[in-house]
Amino acid sequence: MTDRYALIGNPVAHSKSPWIHAEFARATGEDIEYGRIEAPLDGFAGAVDAFRRGGGKGLNATLPFKEAAFRYCEGRVTQRAAAGQAVNTLHFRTEAHGDNTDGVGLVRDLSGNLGLDLEGKSLLLMGAGGAAQAVVGALLDAGAGSLVIANRTVAKAQALAARFPGVIACGYDALEGRVFDVAINATSAGLSGEAPALPKGILGKGTLAYDMVYGRETAFLAAARSAGARACDGLGMLVEQAAESFFVWRGVRPETRLLLQKLRGG
Ligand code: NAP
Repeated sequence: MTDRYALIGNPVAHSKSPWIHAEFARATGEDIEYGRIEAPLDGFAGAVDAFRRGGGKGLNATLPFKEAAFRYCEGRVTQRAAAGQAVNTLHFRTEAHGDNTDGVGLVRDLSGNLGLDLEGKSLLLMGAGGAAQAVVGALLDAGAGSLVIANRTVAKAQALAARFPGVIACGYDALEGRVFDVAINATSAGLSGEAPALPKGILGKGTLAYDMVYGRETAFLAAARSAGARACDGLGMLVEQAAESFFVWRGVRPETRLLLQKLRGG
């Protein structure tokens, strides 16, 4: 019998995840179907319960439900989900279990697809929302030499940094005069045509500038390109986090390189 999975979020109509998981299933011969569930903003738990009653095996949770998904699992979460206090991958046995594949997805994109060795590198992470929270642990585990978290609301960056020894938090102004090997934009600023208010000179020829937003040339990526930095969007992270979710559910790791090429129209 075909096992059922889905993406739950609000909105979900734009998502590429159903297509990505259909391609993974075809390539690995796994008998699954993957749909979309647009849950009401106050109706996450009810929508998940209904999916489970219908025999659903697992869900990906996206905005704005990653924290709700974490709470839904009542502590049955992996260490990487606990570190970010957010779940993007639910799997249902007798109980609901939660994981978070965003961090490993980002690191695999940076190191595997983009060929960047994170060992010893100086990293700037912009943002302190769900996406930033999910990736700090994985970036440190990958050997980052230093990590600064900058956010528009500085208190949120401070609260996040306080959970990880050695990580520094600040506002954008305080970055004046700093240089980083890698600058990761984990804000949603790009969705509204804006960019984090970085002082001039932060992005230069030696910087890899990464925006988690994908499918558009964000103001951050445009600024990075004009400063001579290497600019990359978050499409590879999307594919890699999906591959890790597929592995969590099915125990089979799909190949990602060709699929990513296909998504980029190559
Ligand atoms: P979130 O929890 O809503 O957090 C949003 C963050 O963006 C906050 O730090 C917020 O700062 C900041 N922000 C929003 N508008 C800004 C602006 N105009 N200038 C400066 N900062 C601004 O969202 P999230 O879940 O962390 O997601 C962030 C982005 O990552 C989304 O666009 C999402 O699509 C993307 N994402 C991509 C992937 C992928 O696989 N590629 C995975 C996860 C997320 P304040 O705290 O000051 O409000």
